[in-house]
Amino acid sequence: MMKAARLVEFQKPLKIEDLDVPKVGKGDVLLKVISCGICRSDWHLWRGDPALVAYMQWSGGKLPITQGHEVYGEIVEVGESVTRLNKGDKVVMPASSTGDNRTCKYCMEGDSNVCEHLVIAGYGINGCFAEYMLIPERSVIDLVKVPDGIKSEWAALSSCGFGTSWNAFTMKTNLKPSDIVVIIGAGGMGLSGIAIANALGAKVIAIDVNERSLEKAKMLGSVETYRHSGKSEELNKIVEDIMKKYGSVDVIYDTTGIPEAVIPFLPLLKVHGTLLLAGLMMKGKEIFPLPADLVVAREIRIQGVLMLPAQKFDTIFKLMKEGKINLDPVIYKTISIYDVNDAYKEMSEYKNAGRIIINKFS
Ligand SMILES: [Zn+2]
Ligand SMILES: [Zn+2]
Repeated sequence: MMKAARLVEFQKPLKIEDLDVPKVGKGDVLLKVISCGICRSDWHLWRGDPALVAYMQWSGGKLPITQGHEVYGEIVEVGESVTRLNKGDKVVMPASSTGDNRTCKYCMEGDSNVCEHLVIAGYGINGCFAEYMLIPERSVIDLVKVPDGIKSEWAALSSCGFGTSWNAFTMKTNLKPSDIVVIIGAGGMGLSGIAIANALGAKVIAIDVNERSLEKAKMLGSVETYRHSGKSEELNKIVEDIMKKYGSVDVIYDTTGIPEAVIPFLPLLKVHGTLLLAGLMMKGKEIFPLPADLVVAREIRIQGVLMLPAQKFDTIFKLMKEGKINLDPVIYKTISIYDVNDAYKEMSEYKNAGRIIINKFS
């Protein structure tokens, strides 16, 4: 038997249940979960936000389901046809993994994060808020081996929060030294983004509602931080101040998915600037009102970012191993699976300064 935190009903506490350890089929892999981040998208699904519920249904998932997708674990069993991986390997499952053994056109081009049959743990299959997690045959090819010497919390974070920001700044834009970036939201994904942008030599301006998150943003190298409480006058003042000090900015990276927190910043973008959208949306907040005149006049690029394809993780682990990046400030705290509902409570109040990670499962 194993413990698992299950979403039974939206907005109700997750139920900690005893489940059978999943049986391993011919091509499957069983992980013993070592660390598992609680991502804001887990929280969105828990709330029942429509975009996430729709995705769960599209990918064949239904309640009750074990949540969690930011996973780092050790392989404890492999099916008889699995040859690339062995018992004892430490791996991450990219938050968005292939669901067709990389046979669709996107997977074949190296973009399994947008696979036509995308698998996200905790949505289409049972996730990592559990002692063990089964990786189905159709996704096993995307498991990424993690070299020794990488902290387990960092490895977990790479699967979604860090991986997404890596995609944003190295694949969806090509951030250059001295570029100016505004990062909206300094949670697990935003703080990871700050660490990356800083490592790439860019100047980072961080915006958040939580003072402690902004302290972490400073620790990670932000040149400027601004706190607001969501009021539009406050946001306009921040925009004015940035404009006075920096003129225009090259990139705006949103990790919040909250239109009112993002749109006021658009006039800061320079000609050919980029707006990167990685945050997920709450119910009723799916539509961003866009200043289209500005987008046209400045030829602004609007680019979505969805996690990171499995093929791109090696560079991340190399960077971590070489000590070129420090993700400790991105971690808010580590908890036991029994505390998962307290974690959701803190996230609902935006009190967590960075990622909460589960690393005790019994
Ligand atoms: Zn995530
Ligand atoms: Zn595919």
